[in-house]
Amino acid sequence: MEPTSEPASVWYQDGLRFECTQCGNCCTGGPGAVWFTPDEGRAMAASLGLDEEEFLRRYSRRIGTRRSLNEHRGERGFDCTFLDRTSLPGKAVCGIYAVRPQQCRTWPFWPENIESDAAWAEAKARTPCPGMGRGRLYSFVEIRIQRDLDRKATPFGVDS
Ligand code: SF4
Repeated sequence: MEPTSEPASVWYQDGLRFECTQCGNCCTGGPGAVWFTPDEGRAMAASLGLDEEEFLRRYSRRIGTRRSLNEHRGERGFDCTFLDRTSLPGKAVCGIYAVRPQQCRTWPFWPENIESDAAWAEAKARTPCPGMGRGRLYSFVEIRIQRDLDRKATPFGVDS
């Protein structure tokens, strides 16, 4: 269904605010997974000057039939292998920002986070993500586009 054809009677019909503060909290925490598609894997490999096989060996792991970016245990939890806490003082940034996977691009507008205002508040508190609820106002349509991009991303290993 096209985002614009959906009823605008959901709780975020007036939009939601989001502005990343570069705290890095969404890239760490408990053990998790950063899924990526084969195309995203190739783009990340190319950005690092690696062939795909070497990239997968160095920076990813299998979880069941799927493949996730690696994590490293740090002071604040399990950091994504590409989380950079040193380049910008007081900030935690993505070391491969231009080629980061869809899962990262669509945060925080994941389907489970926008199911309800309670789910949004819970995701904001659990991460915690200080960027949720502040900054730029994302319209209803923009939010739906992000949500649907996240739904459509086919993780590595599912169809390859
Ligand atoms: S938790 Fe929120 S504010 Fe912090 S880096 Fe992630 S998106 Fe940005």
